[in-house]
Amino acid sequence: MSRAATIVTCNGVTVLAAEPSWCTGVHQQGVFLTDISHHGAPLEVLLDDGTVLASAELAQWPYSVRNPLPIMSVELDTDQTEHDDSQLQELAAKLITFAAVNVPELRARLAAAVEEAGR
Ligand SMILES: [Zn+2]
Repeated sequence: MSRAATIVTCNGVTVLAAEPSWCTGVHQQGVFLTDISHHGAPLEVLLDDGTVLASAELAQWPYSVRNPLPIMSVELDTDQTEHDDSQLQELAAKLITFAAVNVPELRARLAAAVEEAGR
């Protein structure tokens, strides 16, 4: 972690936060120290109509007292939707791919981020 992010807290304190390699570099300013966070590029699973079925990204609140290590933030579409048979087939294929391909990739990303944080 050779980069550092400059963040000014809501108390006017300037913090140089060590920047993990996976962070997009976009940080919210004017937050409490414990709310300073890093976010990675999202991995999204889209249906053919562009609906985001699932989205996941690495995240870390490095000054959190509860868990300062990187975590994987996952958001699943919970809206009620209607599907015909072909759309159900598409939904099944996307969910299978998410479970079989994307989740293992997310686990690998998380493991690498936790290892990097421990260095
Ligand atoms: Zn960051």
